[in-house]
Amino acid sequence: MVLNCKHVWEYISDYIFVRADVERHLATCEICSAVLDSTRNVIVLTADSRVFELPVDFSKRLHARLDSVLRNESPEPFAEGT
Ligand SMILES: [Zn+2]
Repeated sequence: MVLNCKHVWEYISDYIFVRADVERHLATCEICSAVLDSTRNVIVLTADSRVFELPVDFSKRLHARLDSVLRNESPEPFAEGT
């Protein structure tokens, strides 16, 4: 995805304010750190067309699974520091 200036302007305040909060949360939350690592791995793997082809509804099922895990293990995953 290539961003132009307008895209960046839309997100620049979130980038400044939310990024610090997210990084603070990630520093203390093993669940979200694991989700971040897993997401990065999935992005790297899926960006490489030589690796494998994902099933059609993989993304939908992944998000449903993540939602389910987060609901069961961490009822308020983003509540710290707010
Ligand atoms: Zn968390």
